[in-house]
This record gives sequence, C-alpha cells and structure tokens, in this order.
Amino acid sequence: AHLDRIAAVDGDLNAFLHVSEDAALEVARDVDERRAAGEQLHALAGVPIAVKDVVVTKGTPTTAASKILEGWVPPYDATLVEKLRAARLPILGKTNMDEFAMGSSTENSAFGPTRNPWDRERIPGGSGGGSAAAVGAYEAPLAIGTDTGGSIRQPASVTGTVGVKPTYGSVSRYGLIAMASSLDQAGPVTRTVEDAALLHELIAGHDARDSTSLPEAVPAFGEAARRKDVKGLRVGVVEELEGDGFAPEVRARFEESLAALERAGAEIVRVSCLNFEYALGAYYLIMPSEASSNLAKFDGMRYGLRVVPEDHPTAESVMKASRGAGFGDEVKRRILLGTYALSAGYYDAYYGSAQKVRTLVQNDFAGAFEQVDVLASPTSPTVAFRLGEKTDDPLAMYMNDIATIPANLAGVPGLSLPSGLAEDGLPAGIQFLAPARADERLYRVGGALE
Ligand code: GLN
Repeated sequence: AHLDRIAAVDGDLNAFLHVSEDAALEVARDVDERRAAGEQLHALAGVPIAVKDVVVTKGTPTTAASKILEGWVPPYDATLVEKLRAARLPILGKTNMDEFAMGSSTENSAFGPTRNPWDRERIPGGSGGGSAAAVGAYEAPLAIGTDTGGSIRQPASVTGTVGVKPTYGSVSRYGLIAMASSLDQAGPVTRTVEDAALLHELIAGHDARDSTSLPEAVPAFGEAARRKDVKGLRVGVVEELEGDGFAPEVRARFEESLAALERAGAEIVRVSCLNFEYALGAYYLIMPSEASSNLAKFDGMRYGLRVVPEDHPTAESVMKASRGAGFGDEVKRRILLGTYALSAGYYDAYYGSAQKVRTLVQNDFAGAFEQVDVLASPTSPTVAFRLGEKTDDPLAMYMNDIATIPANLAGVPGLSLPSGLAEDGLPAGIQFLAPARADERLYRVGGALE
C-alpha cells in the first residue's frame, strides 16, 4: 500500500530520491512467512520505513542529495540501518534533503525540492524535508532523519508530524555522512509519539564504531509514551524563544498546548536562557568549520563525480573541477565560511569565541534544568513558507533554526509534535527539550499531549 501511495503522489512531492520496491517487498513477504510460522518478531517488524539519503545503505545509492555523490553505491550499512534490517523493517527507499543536510527547506537538494503535502507550493522544512513529507503524505509510516541544527524537528513541525533528536551519542553516527560531527544526531520521524518512542528504542544503543557513542542501555521509551501522566512535571517556557519573531497563531497554538498540560497536572513556569540569543551565531561558525573539514574528502578521487579537465589533468585540477561542479552554492558558501573561521589569525576570534558561546548555552541549560524537568518552545517561528520565498536570503533562512539550534550545541534531546493548525490552516509544532540522557521525559510529556 505504501509503495502504491508513493507511485501515486511522489511524482509531485519528490520526497524520495530512490525507491527500493523489490527489496522492500522481499522483506515484507519474509515477515509474513515468519509470522505465519509463529516466529516472535520485533514489534516494528514489517512496518515500512524511509531513510534520509545522508545515511549509507549497502547496495542502495546514497547521495546526500549532492551531485558529487551521484552514482555512489555504499559497500556497507550505517549501524542504524543494520538495526532496521535485523528487526526486519522493509526499507522503502531514500529521502530527499538539502545537499549534505545544509538548509531549512529542502530547496538546496541537487535533485529538485520536495513539496509540502499540506500545500504543494510550500516547503516541507529542511534539511530532512523528504522524510517529513513522506510521513506526512502517508507514503511511509516511519522515517529516519538527522538533526544537526533542527533538521528533524523543524520539518516535523511544518508537516504536522513528530520528530525526535535524541541525546547526542545515543544513536550511532557510524554510516552517517558527516556534516558537523559534534552536532549530528539521527532520530525518528513518525506520525505519533509512541511510534517515535519505539523507533528510537530500536536505533539507539552503544556502538564501538562511533567514538562518541554513549555506553548506557536504552530505556523503554514506549512505556513512557503510553503512560500519559504529567502530574507534577515542571515545564519551563524559555522566555527567549517565544517573543515577537514567532508568528501570532504559532504562539497561540503553543499557549493552548501549555494550557492542556497544565490541566493534566503539569506545572508551567517561565525560565530565562540569556545566551540562547547568541546560539545561532555560534552555530553558523561551528557547523561550517566542522563541515569544511568533513567535506574535504569529496575530492573527485574516492567517490562519485570525477571531472577531468582535458587541457591540464593534474590531481589538483581534478579536485578543483570536481568540487566546483559537484557542490551546490550553499555547500560552497559553508565550506568558505568554515575555512575562513578556522584559518590562522581568525581562529580565536571566530571559532574560539563560538566555542565559548557553546559553553554558555550549555550552562544556561544546566541552570534551567535545576528549576524544571523539561523546557518548551514553539519548534519553528512560522508555518511552512512558500517555495522560493527565502532562497535569495541565507540569513532569513538561517533564522528558522533559532529555537532548534541550542539543543544541538548542548547535546540535549528534543521532540517536536503538532500543536494544531496556525496561519493559512497549516500545521505548527511545539518542541520539548530534556537534559542529556533523559529522553524518556520527552515521551512522557509528548505522549500526554497526543
Ligand atoms: N537548517 C540548519 C542548517 O542549515 C540545520 C541543518 C541540519 O540540522 N542538518 O544548518
């Protein structure tokens, strides 16, 4: 049924870059046979899933939506993909995204934008717009996204879906095409909080192949989502993330969600995180710095596209021509920004200062979590904007991430779920943040609101 749905709507939506019809059907049939034979399988066995194209899949093309990786077929699976296969979830295909996960609208894909299923003239968020649109359009019941500065939560918010960025280090980054290694984290995109909890449980866990992987066992998130009990839970509203920059109806839906939590027995308090104001600026130095280093490996030699200038085919000219032709404008912009911020003479002023701000943001979280159990804010300042509306204004595009970025700088987990319909009848989202390793609180509060 999901493959039929993809065939019917994806020509318009462009949520998928690759559909693995035969492989998905084979897994689905195998699950049927095993169930018929009485075999005990994972709760999600047979439930189809879409995977963001920044996650490597053995034998299936993986491009990160970049021309520079076009035609590359990975020889191995990401750890999280191994887990999906072991639990027998049919992988429907790979989803569209901003090139190398850089963007907030999926318009930076080298293979055309994804459209928002609620209004096809609007963006589905980014960078994981393909995963969110696929779930929102009923092409897939589950999807995997990655979140470096909001790319799971913001697309979820503008497509009326649920998205979770787990605690940094709790889901293995092995096999994720790295954007900014100290910020990247993979997580679930789903239609319900409980689905997200079950998928999160499946993909989390220690992995010796990721040196930042946390050693702890994974708690039972599904249980937390089903409990629907927030009595006595202290919810802190971040004063810096609910002001004038947020659209009136987005704020109204946010306030209504808080009121619902209050009726269910939660205590709502205002908290201040003074340094969140500087988080966006720090992110747009740290992220490009790490990306400029991570993307150095795309040199026209090892993977994908290779452009050989006929007149002067040296190693250097091949690298230059391949990178020039293979990377899109936003990727080049960030490589330049990062290279500049890391260069001798500028390092302390830019990268060094940004790292200090990162510590201040972490201190703000630590202070806030002494007063409350979870923090809350609208996920995104507005509902989905129109395709093309912000493509000429990188700063306006970057402002979309104002509420999602602090969590990545501090490594704390975040969950976005729908708060209702706002401007133009389009979905808005509410985000909850919890201390590192306390992801189950997100499911407790999210489950109660659903
Ligand atoms: N929109 C943000 C950016 O462009 C976040 C991207 C992400 O989380 N991958 O950097």
